[in-house]
Amino acid sequence: MSDDPIREWILSEGKATEITRISSVGGGCINRANRYDTDAGSFFVKTNRSIGPSMFEGEALGLNAMYETKSIRVPKPFKVGSLPTGGSYIIMEFIEFGASRGDQSVLGTKLAELHKAGKSEKGFGFDVDNTIGSTPQVNTWTSDWIQFYGEHRLGFQLQLARDQYGDSSIYDKGQRLVKSMGPLFDDVIIEPCLLHGDLWSGNISSDKNGEPVIVDPACYSDFRLRSPVFLRSASFLFPPTSCSLPPLSSSLPLFIPFFPFDADTERPTTVVGEVASGTKGMQARASDGHNEAEFGMSWCAGFGGSFYNAYFEVMPKQPGFEKRRDLYLLYHYLNHYNLFGSGYCSSAMTIIDDYLRFLKA
Ligand code: ADP
Repeated sequence: MSDDPIREWILSEGKATEITRISSVGGGCINRANRYDTDAGSFFVKTNRSIGPSMFEGEALGLNAMYETKSIRVPKPFKVGSLPTGGSYIIMEFIEFGASRGDQSVLGTKLAELHKAGKSEKGFGFDVDNTIGSTPQVNTWTSDWIQFYGEHRLGFQLQLARDQYGDSSIYDKGQRLVKSMGPLFDDVIIEPCLLHGDLWSGNISSDKNGEPVIVDPACYSDFRLRSPVFLRSASFLFPPTSCSLPPLSSSLPLFIPFFPFDADTERPTTVVGEVASGTKGMQARASDGHNEAEFGMSWCAGFGGSFYNAYFEVMPKQPGFEKRRDLYLLYHYLNHYNLFGSGYCSSAMTIIDDYLRFLKA
């Protein structure tokens, strides 16, 4: 077992002969991040001292699937492994981010290219279950999208709300919506597309050439409710100003005690560890779903007209897109309700009530 698998990988498969500098990178939510400068270029390394490699394997799976589409820029994942002192690491391509978020129309085009290139033949789902925040996402492959979205997305969240809050009102009405939402999909051709799954402004950037970059896909994890993985979606902690529904700050103390790893206040220089597994050959997808579901976090993404126009040039807008938009927001509002409490309940309930009226259900 090597004491420093990160250094070892960089100096062997990473093809460097010298690591010239290791500097910390801020801005992350749960992991310690470092930039390794070498004579073979720079590497981006995240470590977590408490969580095993499954979380980073999930991140690598999602990144790799998106990377292979050769559409929107994502960092190429190189290596995932365990640290001998506990915890895990991921090594990936270092991307020099630019000053701005980049051209919105290019982002729209590139995202649509990702969706178009990542068409799945397996149906809707994923090769493994994963999480959205800390909430489990069941990804059992399903041939019918309406069934998948009704059961594994909305239905799962509704059940969770009933289980943890005893909220049978939202459960009952939500289930009525699930049973009656079919007509919202009339005349739509729904193909399973590779989705990022957690596309909000904190996960969207641009490189120094202005090319859009997306990071941190909703990824596979072994962890379940109240695990630290919920913090992966930084919107829960640090909502961008574009959020129309900022998370309740009063909910934060509820979750902070469940943050069992170091607060990353030290500046690491080297990390010790053991190589456990690589990312080579990983073919799973971030998730395969209806492309419109990618806009479920649009209330925190700041997409404007030029973004959507460019997107629809490549992935034409399907009939009834506007009718379904709130249905896709609903999943994320329900998830926020389940993670942060009642502040999100009324938004979710309003969407459900509006649909029940519209559908006369
Ligand atoms: P965490 O897993 O802790 O949420 P992030 O994935 O958000 O960490 O990464 C931490 C910071 O590093 C982010 O602010 C992001 O800007 C930056 N970052 C993420 N991926 C890369 C990369 N491949 N190259 C350079 N910087 C990156």
